[in-house]
Amino acid sequence: MKNKVGIPRGMFYYDYYLLWKEFFNNLDVEVVPSPKTNKDILNKGVHTCVDEACLPVKVFHGHVDYLKDKVNYIFIPKFISIYPKEYCCPKHLGLPDMVRHSIEGLPEIIDPEINLRKSDKTLKKAVLNTGKYFTKSSKKIYRAFNEAYNQFFKDVDLMSRGVVPINAVGLYDDLSFNIKEGNETFKRKILFLGHSYNIYDDYINMNIVSKLKKRKTKVITAEMVDEESIRYYASKLPKRMFWTHGQRIVGAAYALIEGRAVDGIIYISAFGCGLDSVLMDLVERTAKGNKIPFTLLTIDEQTGEAGINTRIEAFLDMLEWRDNNEDNFSTYG
Ligand code: SF4
Repeated sequence: MKNKVGIPRGMFYYDYYLLWKEFFNNLDVEVVPSPKTNKDILNKGVHTCVDEACLPVKVFHGHVDYLKDKVNYIFIPKFISIYPKEYCCPKHLGLPDMVRHSIEGLPEIIDPEINLRKSDKTLKKAVLNTGKYFTKSSKKIYRAFNEAYNQFFKDVDLMSRGVVPINAVGLYDDLSFNIKEGNETFKRKILFLGHSYNIYDDYINMNIVSKLKKRKTKVITAEMVDEESIRYYASKLPKRMFWTHGQRIVGAAYALIEGRAVDGIIYISAFGCGLDSVLMDLVERTAKGNKIPFTLLTIDEQTGEAGINTRIEAFLDMLEWRDNNEDNFSTYG
């Protein structure tokens, strides 16, 4: 019988699932992702995780709890750094330990340390340590990873250049309409901004994308902006941004604002997220300076859908009113 590795659908799942899935499959290991977030998963996460954690971390705990009886291993890398001289949020770093101490009856957790801050040597070590659970052959492990790595970057490049719809590689199925406009006519373009696990988890963000779609709004996300532009625009900050997710959020926003490629920005943030309080402010100031309307939606486990609906409706109504009555009139007065 094949070994089964569970990958919880939360946190860096939305960035790297395809890479790890391909890697494990190349080693003849079955990958079991948890399903999309639902009420049970959220409730389990809230009950098992410490109160002080942000919503995405709680949701992640719920996904681990779902998987724990269904697999031989659960894969939770310890992400310290994914880019030279940059860091991840400390919550990513502590994730495997938090989970271990919060949830009972877990199978073995595979938690390689990913730390590319100084060099990519630790990535090789992480890959080897992970692969050794399933084979003794280092050669086989590296080959499995290299093949997965090359395929992954081809997919990411194609997605960000809009050559393939995002759902073609199985991750962002609800957002496929963004790339291929087809015959649909869009009234406006909105940048839906935030951490990938808030943007692509449509349960915790209360299906904002489909709400926007119903109002004939084209949704753009940071992942649709190419890495080179993101890095270039983020480098314009007076001080280097040392969070990699921050580089992506700010760089993509600046690129789209300066290119006047969006009519408005909706930023979604988890309550209590320290990074977002800085990132959101940087984006809001630049949007304001360029007369691009900006709104912030904060989510936690108590957030009600009615409140989110009202805010989105009001934001879109304001944009519509602005288009019809006050050509390019600043919404900031
Ligand atoms: S960046 Fe913010 S939302 Fe993400 S894990 Fe850290 S505190 Fe939570």
